[in-house]
Amino acid sequence: MLSQYRGIAPKGQLELLKILGSKLSGRSILHVNSTKAGGGVAELLHRIMPIMNGMGLEGRWEVIEGDNRFFDITKKIHNALQGNPEKFTGEMWDYHFEINRKNAANLDLDAEFVFIHDPQPVPLIKFRKNGHWIWRCHIDMSSPQPDVADRVMGYASQYEAGIFSVAKFALLMPLPEFIVLPSIDPLSDKNRELTAAEIDEVARKFDIPSDRPMVLQVSRFDRFKDPIGVIKAYRMVKKYNDCILVLAGSPARDDPEGEEVLSEVQNFSEGDPDIRILLLPPFSDKEINALQRLATIVLQKSLKEGFGLTVSEAMWKGKPVIGGAVGGIPHQIVHGVNGFLVYSEEGAAFRIRQFLNNIEMLNRMGDAAREYVRNNFLITRQVGDYLSICLGVENAGKTVIEIG
Ligand code: UDP
Repeated sequence: MLSQYRGIAPKGQLELLKILGSKLSGRSILHVNSTKAGGGVAELLHRIMPIMNGMGLEGRWEVIEGDNRFFDITKKIHNALQGNPEKFTGEMWDYHFEINRKNAANLDLDAEFVFIHDPQPVPLIKFRKNGHWIWRCHIDMSSPQPDVADRVMGYASQYEAGIFSVAKFALLMPLPEFIVLPSIDPLSDKNRELTAAEIDEVARKFDIPSDRPMVLQVSRFDRFKDPIGVIKAYRMVKKYNDCILVLAGSPARDDPEGEEVLSEVQNFSEGDPDIRILLLPPFSDKEINALQRLATIVLQKSLKEGFGLTVSEAMWKGKPVIGGAVGGIPHQIVHGVNGFLVYSEEGAAFRIRQFLNNIEMLNRMGDAAREYVRNNFLITRQVGDYLSICLGVENAGKTVIEIG
């Protein structure tokens, strides 16, 4: 399995994985999150599990189940932790706990290392019987609503360790906290090389013209991704430069607001045949891959962001990305080197025009983008980080941590 990454991932990352694999072979690792499809967490778990298993570990992935009421509550928790004010009642917190209690009864939570992802399943810690439990938080908690942060911390601080995507998202908790930036898999259908015929097929399917520049944003229909801001920026550009805009997204089981935002976006773009809103079914990986390759410029104009996997995905395809300067996006975009960070619709429009008017610069920054991802954001690095943390947690308190 690891040998497939030879020549793609940096050699040192593969050497480290070999050592970690030999130390952890046969050990059980469980990941638990709240959706099998949609969003970056599911995307990553689909790829991390086979790699860990290929290294000789016994990896499992469980998904908690809930009804619409549960996911409405957890979406509110998510929004409040990312700084959007929301109102909560004691009953809502009880229901959050109650659904986790039911899940704990149905799930097999028995493993030596247990990674619980995000706030939806955070109460599961109350049902821990054994193993080292680690809370993996993917969201932007730099300015959370205080009462909601307190509730979540009440659970999170009972874990043995916390992992955050970016240092400023970390909550101050009395446990070891680690920073692990997310990553992309260069061999997945989302990111692998495509043939010209595969790319053409997708262009035909979505009626993407080959003779006009295309600006693309791939995102769930979520206000934090600012799809309306993207359309406003495109309209500013359109006065001077010809281009089409593609907004591609799909629903996620744990995001009940998607439909509402989608219809807002459809209404806002109505009447402009050059704005294509593509509602993709889950697992449209090859389509997204091709769209990112067909794009001239990729935007990720988020107003709040966890990491923003779509940024690295596009950069890996040699596209410089124009991204909102939030969450993990500034960790991926080195401003003026492999893309541009923006703070407003006007800023996004300015950078789109700058690229459209200077294709040589666009290509140069696109090449730099791909190399930056190779060195920093491939999945081999992230698997190494997770396994190092497993060893670290297990050896906490011992004087020597052996990894070699
Ligand atoms: N994605 C997808 N289909 C869509 C929209 C997004 O498969 O219609 C994928 C996208 O390619 C990326 C992930 O979902 O891999 C989104 O991760 P990101 O960190 O950008 O945002 P999140 O949705 O987790 O907030």
